[in-house]
Amino acid sequence: MLELITSKLEDAANWGRKFSLFSYPFVTACCGMEFMSVSAPKYDIARFGAEFPRFSPRQSDLLMIVGTITEKQGPALRRVYEQMTEPKWVIAFGVCASTGGFYQNYHAMPGADQVVPVDVYIPGCPPRPEQVLDALILLQDRVQRRDGHSQLRLKREKITLAAANAED
Ligand code: SF4
Repeated sequence: MLELITSKLEDAANWGRKFSLFSYPFVTACCGMEFMSVSAPKYDIARFGAEFPRFSPRQSDLLMIVGTITEKQGPALRRVYEQMTEPKWVIAFGVCASTGGFYQNYHAMPGADQVVPVDVYIPGCPPRPEQVLDALILLQDRVQRRDGHSQLRLKREKITLAAANAED
C-alpha cells in the first residue's frame, strides 16, 4: 500500500515537473538564433511550460546546449551541469552540440555527451523550431517516467561511487 501511495505521489510530482521546466541556455553559437525563435510568440514554448530561461544553474533543471562546444568549454559545461538542481535533464540543440557537426578538427568536441549525459539530441543545422518542440515533448515523456539517459547515468555514477566508498 505504502509503495502504491509513493509511486502515485511520484507520478504527480513528475507531472508537475514536466510542465514547469526551467532551462539553462548554454548558448555558444549560431543555434542561439533558433533558440530565440522557439521562445518567441510564433512557436511559443510557453505552451509547454518551459518559457523561463534561468541564467543560474541552481535555478535550472533543463540544460539546453545550444551551439558548438569546444574542448576548452567542456569543463565549464560540466561545472554548470553539476551545479543544477536534481532531477535534471539535458537537450543537445543542433548537430554541433550533438556530434560536433561539420567541425572535424582539434578544437571542437565531437558532441556535448563527451562531458555531460544527454537525454535528447536534436539534429539539424540549425534545427527548425518544430524539431525543438518535438524534442521537448519527447523529453516531457521521459520526465514523467523519470528514465532519461541523464537519470540513468546519474544512478550508475552514484552506485559506482558508493561501491568505491565501501571499498575504502
Ligand atoms: S548546428 Fe549549425 S546553426 Fe547550430 S551552432 Fe552548429 S553551425 Fe551553427
